[in-house]
Amino acid sequence: MSDCLFCKIIRGEIPSTKVYEDDSVLAFRDINPQAPTHILVIPKTHISGVSEICAQNASIAAHCLEVCAMVAKQEQLDGGFRVVSNCGADAGQTVNHLHFHVLGGKVLNTDMA
Ligand code: 5GP
Ligand code: ZN
Repeated sequence: MSDCLFCKIIRGEIPSTKVYEDDSVLAFRDINPQAPTHILVIPKTHISGVSEICAQNASIAAHCLEVCAMVAKQEQLDGGFRVVSNCGADAGQTVNHLHFHVLGGKVLNTDMA
């Protein structure tokens, strides 16, 4: 997707602070952190959001969650962390490329909605 912000980050057209990368997944620091650790984990293939996860791409979505666990360990979020994926306008999704927020480093607000 040529005009997708996160596809541009994957291609290196927009700089990011990477914390993990492999053939299919990239993890980088959120530009506007909501917690001491705030990392975004994204697939390198463009999937618009959780609503587009299906049998054909479920393995990459699962790998994203595996990377969430890896970066949480890397960041030493031993006290716990939260994984969030906003999907669609009502959830406040602002970038239409599947991403998992990994938040931690403090006691998080427990409001879910
Ligand atoms: P959403 O609101 O779609 O769930 O999350 C999008 C996230 O992307 C936000 O937390 C926002 O701060 C982050 N973000 C937006 N633009 C950039 C950028 O250019 N670089 C980085 N690292 N994060 C960004
Ligand atoms: Zn994209």
